[in-house]
Amino acid sequence: MMAKKKKSALITGGAGFIGSFLAEDLLERGYKVYAVDNLSTGSLDNIEHLQANPNFTFEVGSIIDEELMEEMVIASDMIFHLAAAVGVKLIIEKPVDTIETNVLGTEIMLHLANKHDKSILITSTSEVYGKNEKVPFKENDDSVYGPTSKSRWSYACSKAVDEFLALAYYHEKKLPVVIVRLFNTIGPRQTGQYGMVVPTFVKQALLGHDITVYSDGKQTRCFTDVRDVTGSLIDLINNRKAYGEVFNIGNNIDISIVKLAETIRKMTGSGSKIIYVPYDKAYEKGFEDMRKRLPDISKAKSLIGFQPRIKLEETLVDIIEYYKK
Ligand code: UDP
Repeated sequence: MMAKKKKSALITGGAGFIGSFLAEDLLERGYKVYAVDNLSTGSLDNIEHLQANPNFTFEVGSIIDEELMEEMVIASDMIFHLAAAVGVKLIIEKPVDTIETNVLGTEIMLHLANKHDKSILITSTSEVYGKNEKVPFKENDDSVYGPTSKSRWSYACSKAVDEFLALAYYHEKKLPVVIVRLFNTIGPRQTGQYGMVVPTFVKQALLGHDITVYSDGKQTRCFTDVRDVTGSLIDLINNRKAYGEVFNIGNNIDISIVKLAETIRKMTGSGSKIIYVPYDKAYEKGFEDMRKRLPDISKAKSLIGFQPRIKLEETLVDIIEYYKK
């Protein structure tokens, strides 16, 4: 009898925070994994523990390099497109890179997936809902953005264009494509360098620095452990009913940012002061934030049984441990 061929997957952004966990999860499930990353926000440290695995292949490269991408697409059965400019701070500092990487990069990946008839999962973001105040967000709810003069919205818009293009490929060319909107994913290996709140607070608390809560701290977010996320991406891309569909993937338990700061301070036994920083100072003049962001996850739940299992406190324990090292 012939041995069953291993399934293979390409991960763009494979040395990133989420990409590296996805690679691990796929390898554990018996996949062959090709990972590509330009190491702009990703890092070799994230995948060091995978490099000796014969089923793991890593290339430093950009998703804009169509020739390299084509080779990797041909070698894979499916594509997880995670490479993107991420983090509100990075987006405000480098708006040109953000828009170009997010729009052009996704265009290239969709084009190649279509050319070689491969299924592709596009990771989008809860930012796509913008400042819509509805609670919770369902996948078909409106996107509400501020003016183009506020660069924060370029991230949401660039990801919305990705979604439009992906859905267009599905409808016009029958490309098997799945779109996932991730809600504030956290875990070890995530860096605070690009403004994400949890690693920033953990570092501040461990170093005894002031913990910088922006605005009044009453804005809320739902934080999801990355290890609850990766399995759902794999289940979705392998489910035909997911093609041409958008899914919220996130935790549906929210916490205010000031409560988060207090929790982290307590868990680290830190003597840090919690200080309040206005948005104008933290980001840019006239910065607009979302007050609330909560996903309705019933769609992913009914299709693939998605249910986050890891509690925020458990994830924080692991993140604190990671940063202590
Ligand atoms: N935030 C904060 N202090 C920080 C970094 C972020 O209070 O040092 C706030 C930020 O204004 C937002 C929330 O934490 O309301 C989550 O920010 P993050 O950049 O992690 O993700 P976002 O949900 O904005 O994409």
